[in-house]
Amino acid sequence: MHIFAIANQKGGVGKTTTAVNLAAALAASGQRTLLVDLDPQGNATMGSGIDKRGLQVSVYQVLLQLITLAEARATSPAGKFDVLPANRDLAGAEVELVDLDLREMRLKAALAEHRDDYDFVLIDCPPSLSMLTLNGLCAAHGVIIPMQCEYYALEGLSDLVNTIKKVHANLNRDLKIIGLLRVMFDPRNTLSNQVSAQLEQHFGDKVFKTLVPRNVRLAEAPSYGVPGVLFDRAAKGAQAYMTFADEMIERVGQWKE
Ligand code: ADP
Ligand code: MG
Repeated sequence: MHIFAIANQKGGVGKTTTAVNLAAALAASGQRTLLVDLDPQGNATMGSGIDKRGLQVSVYQVLLQLITLAEARATSPAGKFDVLPANRDLAGAEVELVDLDLREMRLKAALAEHRDDYDFVLIDCPPSLSMLTLNGLCAAHGVIIPMQCEYYALEGLSDLVNTIKKVHANLNRDLKIIGLLRVMFDPRNTLSNQVSAQLEQHFGDKVFKTLVPRNVRLAEAPSYGVPGVLFDRAAKGAQAYMTFADEMIERVGQWKE
């Protein structure tokens, strides 16, 4: 089981879109996949076709160890992958976890019992470096960082990289940056191309080969509760996320050898 946190403390950079579409693309490729929604906004839950307003239980109760992961998970009606859903309740977890034992290890503990159930676990982190994100980083083997190729893209990346280093040093020796994923890419934009080239220069093979273009079909899909890769399979964005799933499967395959 490979566990990846999809993180970037900036909002609106494509974390949730990446989490939902990579989960659906991996599932479509036959990988047993669990998507964990760690954002109180519940966008990954909704985008997977699960109504956050109707949830009886969610990741919130799992983090507080009131119920098990098996009791809280649901299956995406469209996507053939499992979801550990979230809603507003999760905002309270931040405060409620503070005084509890091993507060940053709660998700890791819950996942440990399901080691044999999944090939991939993807964790959609909230736009902050909070206790929730910390739970994601402590549970994960690696971090996938979606980013837009714009002027300020690198600003803030150092905060995230420092946090990942600290977590690696103090809490989770397994953690590493798997890669930077360029999303909402516009090939006709000169600046995008320059920033993209800079990323390749600085980060080398830590930059995924796959480029996800800006594609309106990916943005439309969540309102139908269907992952973009299934909503319009022929769309450029859908195809990019299918290619990205192949790239991820290839990466983890190399580790086994
Ligand atoms: P985050 O989870 O980092 O806040 P989202 O995945 O919710 O970011 O994306 C922010 C907004 O950008 C959403 O409205 C989403 O539909 C849109 N979006 C994300 N990726 C793309 C893309 N490749 N093309 C077009 N729109 C996108
Ligand atoms: Mg999000």
